[in-house]
Amino acid sequence: MKVIATPSRTKEILDKFDLYAKKNYGQNFLVEPGIVSKIARNAVISDHTVVIEIGPGIGALTQMLSQFAKKVIAYEIDERLPEVLAYSLEDCDNVEVVLQDFMQVDLQNLVKQYPNDDVVIAANLPYYITTPILFKIFESEADIKRITVMMQKEVADRFAANVNTKDYNALSVITQYLTHVKQVVKVPRNVFNPKPNVDSSVLQFEFKKKDLSVNEKLFFAMVKACFKQRRKTILNNFGEWLKDKEKAKEYLNDAGISESQRAESCSLDDFLRLYRRIEHEDICLCEN
Ligand code: SAM
Repeated sequence: MKVIATPSRTKEILDKFDLYAKKNYGQNFLVEPGIVSKIARNAVISDHTVVIEIGPGIGALTQMLSQFAKKVIAYEIDERLPEVLAYSLEDCDNVEVVLQDFMQVDLQNLVKQYPNDDVVIAANLPYYITTPILFKIFESEADIKRITVMMQKEVADRFAANVNTKDYNALSVITQYLTHVKQVVKVPRNVFNPKPNVDSSVLQFEFKKKDLSVNEKLFFAMVKACFKQRRKTILNNFGEWLKDKEKAKEYLNDAGISESQRAESCSLDDFLRLYRRIEHEDICLCEN
């Protein structure tokens, strides 16, 4: 089997099909087998793992995933690529390529088809929709065990940011509420064809057990509101959202959060304590 994730094999495949990378689909093909293998080994839990891959491109990561996993289902949006993948992955008989925008996939239904397997997601993500893709997965309520994905370094820094750092925002809090996040490997920009203008990072998200007593829609809306204007105190942001500054003061006080703090200095536990004070309030989420 010829490894796809090398500069020479990638060029060979691109030339054979007269292909060029489409910028609007975020196409940067990985040409460093060591990194691709690391992503694949981290993504797959056991030989009972079914991998959903987003954006196989010409198959660099798909090929390695197929060596470790039971099955790989790869969703690709670019209609030029199924033909290329049929050629580049001809030896990988556990791969199913689906020509479909991942944003349109019904994840819950898909995952239900594999009740006896661990379903995971792996990708070298198209950078233009990294956050919408991850939030689609986070909000799908599908039984996915882990997500291992490469993204632009700056975006990864926000997902994994700790309290009291400049990158810490609502996204970090919500992500850390839902998952354990860890960095698998940093990836320099020179291992892609074409070379992007940014460095990358591979993150892994392991889902935590759900706390069914939390209304996630309300909790996420509250967290986003507290970060709405970064320069404002939490009292101002939270008070505006509640539409009652006196109540906001009381609830912050009950939760042990100082009125003069900013949201970026509040930990996930602080936000959860604050949530417990508002969970039975009649708050309309429509405007937020
Ligand atoms: N996995 C390949 C690799 O590592 O070399 C390609 C990665 S490239 C950064 C992103 C891939 O995602 C491209 O093949 C692109 O066409 C595909 N893509 C972009 N938007 C997509 C979407 N909404 N649904 C499915 N695939 C998408």
